[in-house]
Order: sequence, then structure tokens, then C-alpha cells
Amino acid sequence: MSEYTFTSTQPSETMNFAKRLGQLLKPSDVIALEGDLGAGKTTFTKGLAEGLEIKKTVNSPTFTIIKEYHGRLPLYHMDVYRVEDSYEDLGFDEYFEGSGVTVVEWAHLIEDQLPDELLTIQLKHGENDTRTISLEPKGARYEELCKELFS
Ligand code: ADP
Ligand code: MG
Repeated sequence: MSEYTFTSTQPSETMNFAKRLGQLLKPSDVIALEGDLGAGKTTFTKGLAEGLEIKKTVNSPTFTIIKEYHGRLPLYHMDVYRVEDSYEDLGFDEYFEGSGVTVVEWAHLIEDQLPDELLTIQLKHGENDTRTISLEPKGARYEELCKELFS
């Protein structure tokens, strides 16, 4: 298991944890969110958006694939569950390298198009409302970010 794990017992706890992460994010940061349907990926993104000082309500972009919000930094919220062809290039790079923060739900479905360095966050359903949130940093930037978040 990841050395960076947080256990949440209710949605507000997941949101608060994600909000603290959101407060630490910088331009071009990329977060991959993984977990089954209902694990809490969108709930996590709502909290992260709060940390980016986004006032608008963040909803699942399932049918649009990408939604953009504006706060302290822009947030590019993607849900690639319905991307039919994982090789179809929808111009993701421009978002990853852009001046905002990108959050990708079901990121493994576009694995080949993801940047080499990113922060993967796995949400796992536990009993009742419990969720285990594990962070796997790839690259120095994300190692630092995890250290800061868990310090
Ligand atoms: P996903 O985007 O992974 O499909 P959602 O965030 O849309 O998941 O839905 C998660 C659901 O689980 C929400 O209805 C939320 O209220 C509920 N939930 C219950 N407990 C938690 C928790 N500890 N953390 C996050 N969500 C939780
Ligand atoms: Mg979702």
C-alpha cells in the first residue's frame, strides 16, 4: 500500500482532505483519480475545487469529457469513462501543460496519453461510508506535494 494513505469516514472528510491538496496545487499539476463508480472521485474533485477557490459547483463531466472552472488557478476536470478509443487524441496535452490544474477521473483509460509525472489517487470503498484514499506520486514535484500534504 502507498505510504500516503488517508481514511475518510464521510463525504465532508473526503472533501476537506481534497481541499487541503487543492490549496497546495500549482500550474500544470496533473491528478489521476481512480476508483469504482461511486468511490468518490467527483466528491474529491469538488473539495479540490474549493481549495482552488472555485465558487461554481463542480459536477461530473461524464457527458462532456472536459469541464473548465476558474478560481485561484483554472481547473480542467475530465472524466474519460466514455472516451471510446483510448488512442483518440482529444488534445489532452494542452490541458496537462496548461496554466491550470488537470484532474482526470478514470485516468488509466487514457494511460498512453498521460504525462510521465503525475499524482495518482486511488479511492476504495470500505464499509458503509468509509473510503481509503491512497496517493502514489510519480516524479519529484509530486513526492514533495505528498510530503507537504502529510506533514
Ligand atoms: P465517483 O465520481 O467516483 O463515481 P461520486 O463522488 O460521484 O463518485 O459519488 C460518491 C458517492 O458516495 C456520493 O454520493 C457521496 O456522497 C458518497 N460517499 C459516502 N461516503 C463518502 C466518503 N467518505 N467520501 C466520498 N464520498 C462518499
Ligand atoms: Mg465521477
